[in-house]
Amino acid sequence: MKSNFSYDLIIIGGGISACVFSSKFLQKNVSKKIALIEVGRGLGGRSSTRISKRFKGWKLNHGAPNFNISKSNDNLLLKNYIDDLLEKKLIKSDDSELTSLGDISELQTIKKSEFYCGESYLSSFSMSELSQKIIEFNNFGDKIDLFFKTLIVDLNFNNDEWTLKSKNGHKFKSKYIICSSNLLLHKRSLKILNTNQIPLRKAIPKNKDKKIDRLFNLLDKQSFIPRLTFLIYSNENYSYKDFYSKKYRYFYLKKNLENKFKFERVIFQLQDNNKLGIVVHTKNIDFINSYINTNDEDIFKQKIFANFNELFRNNTSVNQLTFNEGISIMKWRASQPSGCAVPLSLQFSKKYRIGFCGDWFDGNGFGRIEGSILSALTLAKKFQI
Ligand SMILES: Cc1cc2nc3c(=O)[nH]c(=O)nc-3n(C[C@H](O)[C@H](O)[C@H](O)COP(=O)(O)OP(=O)(O)OC[C@H]3O[C@@H](n4cnc5c(N)ncnc54)[C@H](O)[C@@H]3O)c2cc1C
Repeated sequence: MKSNFSYDLIIIGGGISACVFSSKFLQKNVSKKIALIEVGRGLGGRSSTRISKRFKGWKLNHGAPNFNISKSNDNLLLKNYIDDLLEKKLIKSDDSELTSLGDISELQTIKKSEFYCGESYLSSFSMSELSQKIIEFNNFGDKIDLFFKTLIVDLNFNNDEWTLKSKNGHKFKSKYIICSSNLLLHKRSLKILNTNQIPLRKAIPKNKDKKIDRLFNLLDKQSFIPRLTFLIYSNENYSYKDFYSKKYRYFYLKKNLENKFKFERVIFQLQDNNKLGIVVHTKNIDFINSYINTNDEDIFKQKIFANFNELFRNNTSVNQLTFNEGISIMKWRASQPSGCAVPLSLQFSKKYRIGFCGDWFDGNGFGRIEGSILSALTLAKKFQI
């Protein structure tokens, strides 16, 4: 059924940046009516958890498995927020084992790499639940209306009011909106939404707002890294060769091994039922294309398992996989932004009552959860309605 809704503020997207922003906003504006609209089935976005219908009982973090804060001491806003999450026990320090595959001396370099420099943190729950708890913790859960499976495809700004249309025919009205993803501002929307004009450009034509024009110019130079994640549901008796009891274990591949095996990292995730889930990431474009061209999970599974078994053949911790272990494959069309980052000074247009947050903003955390959280905190500080 098609419906019309009206809110004081609408947030598009339900990833971690949207959740951090929502909770901060609600702290200061308890009486405002706000809605969060997400195309997926739940919160978390690219830091979410696959709860498979096919493989019952498994919860695998299939996007970001954890997150690192590269330089929190440089930013009090971020440092205080992370301390708060630690104090509320929503996150904990990640002391899981990290192994560099290829050359032991490479470990130092890996610690400095983008996902492992600084301090690393794990969600105390699944990654999706972290986003959910961030909203729920101060009992904000019932002060915000959540719309899932709702894709915003069209935006209009008229008489100081936004009208948003969703693919399933709903209409949402609000004086203020926040875009926590740049899909509606970026050229990739043309293909994804099958439209001939970038939705926000249509709503705010050129030369109406210098800030917005600059935002579009910069985003035109921003691209996205595609990734595949392979989720391996191991058999009941599958375990490590050694006695490792922590929940997570990370294996990073050195460049030469990444080129050979096409894997970027392999992440073991112990499940509550003691089964061992394995999530393998790849950003090798030929490998991704060969999956798209094959489009047959069974054939591709053989390749992945063969590479996995070859990679870990003489490893002292990791056992070989057998073909009856289960697999599902997640394709991330836009796993991380790359190229041109957008300065935080372009986060808010007063004239158009629109704000932006997400990992696509400039700073140490560009392309990572650190950037998402920081941009949300910064926006919440300057955003007033
Ligand atoms: C495979 C993978 C591995 C990663 N590894 C790491 C890591 O180790 N460490 C790290 O820090 N980061 C990692 N990242 C990046 C990290 O996941 C992101 O930086 C972070 O989750 C982005 O959060 P966000 O809220 O900014 O955006 P998102 O999570 O993308 O949230 C935006 C949300 O908006 C929704 N949306 C967009 N457009 C619309 C629309 N029109 N209508 C309705 N909903 C819409 C999307 O569905 C999405 O849920 C990884 C990402 C991937 C995919």
